[in-house]
Amino acid sequence: MPPSPDDGAAHAVYLDANATEPLRPSAAAAMLEAAGLTGNPSSVHAQGRRARALLEEARAVVARRLDADLLNCVFTSGGTEANVLALHGFAPGRRVLVGRTEHDAVRMGVPEGAALEWLEVDAFGQVRLDLLEETLARPHALPALVCLMLANNETGVLHPMAEVARLCARYGAHLHGDAVQAVGRMDVALHAGGFGSLACSGHKLGGPKGAGALLLAGPAPRALSPLFVGGGQEQGRRGGTQALPAIAGMARALEEALDTQPHHAPLRDALERAACAAGAVVCGAGAPRLANTSCLALPGLRAQGQLMRLDLEGFCVSAGSACSSGKVASSHVLEAMGLEELAGQAIRVSLPWSVRAEDVERFTATYVRLAAGRTGGGAISVAGGLV
Ligand code: PLP
Repeated sequence: MPPSPDDGAAHAVYLDANATEPLRPSAAAAMLEAAGLTGNPSSVHAQGRRARALLEEARAVVARRLDADLLNCVFTSGGTEANVLALHGFAPGRRVLVGRTEHDAVRMGVPEGAALEWLEVDAFGQVRLDLLEETLARPHALPALVCLMLANNETGVLHPMAEVARLCARYGAHLHGDAVQAVGRMDVALHAGGFGSLACSGHKLGGPKGAGALLLAGPAPRALSPLFVGGGQEQGRRGGTQALPAIAGMARALEEALDTQPHHAPLRDALERAACAAGAVVCGAGAPRLANTSCLALPGLRAQGQLMRLDLEGFCVSAGSACSSGKVASSHVLEAMGLEELAGQAIRVSLPWSVRAEDVERFTATYVRLAAGRTGGGAISVAGGLV
């Protein structure tokens, strides 16, 4: 294997799994194997057929492990594309109901001109079922498309999806689930969960970046207007030669993620207990959450400063929300939860599949020292030597 470009930062403790999980060695091996195949999966000759066989093997894994049908698993470039493909396919002719705390892939992916309505969340970040039912029950010329994430990327909070699915079934709405943060971390099932469609992403499972899937309910291959027509791959639903190495890596990572779920909860709970004792607020605490995610706000200490300090100390964590420029934006998730005052002071700690207990313990000790250095609720300069 070539040396990892991460080697220079090997001393850093990586606690930013919700941004991307470390690549699993088994996924890297599957990618290498697939990269050795020359054929294009659409070619009919022997080499093409070999590539096709590997592609269909990966499809079978993804479909089977997520309770979908083989014919209704569409490979994409990742979670963003899977969500946008679903919105593009199911929004026309429907009113689109989107949770306030959804990821930008969905919030920004609603096609222009669509009849968009926002679904409010409660103080924990869970969708308000009473308001959802009120909205669905309101007489409307258009049927509804409901878009909600299974698990929130910033707080780890889970929506009450079983109840949401029941309401969608009762009112004839299509339920699209953004399962990007959920797959591999909790049970996710397309049919059994009552979803009309589900989006997932390879790199949030320990697979490579650049592969994802949109799973569609329905026994027969479901028509879906493609974002790219191209050569009609993926049964005309997603044109473009499939990224076979990335797809094979995603399928292998999915198998491993589902077969070897790490025990994050005790590590997360110990971290949160210590953080709270040091004055932190855990955003979304009290609601069901992913076991790997803590959104910790330190009143009086800006997130940007915390991140810089922790980075200097060798810890990779995120602010709740970061733009692609790397700047920290105010979190729409925390704002929707009524936590505007904390929105600029929260960081996200998300434990990867590979985390070690001593990594979390070292982080906890550093975080507690960081918190202890705050001055009476006022903002603290990073250069001020807090630890
Ligand atoms: N949905 C959620 C909830 C996410 O957290 C992310 C990425 O952070 C995405 C969608 C986009 O996935 P991808 O990075 O694979 O495009």
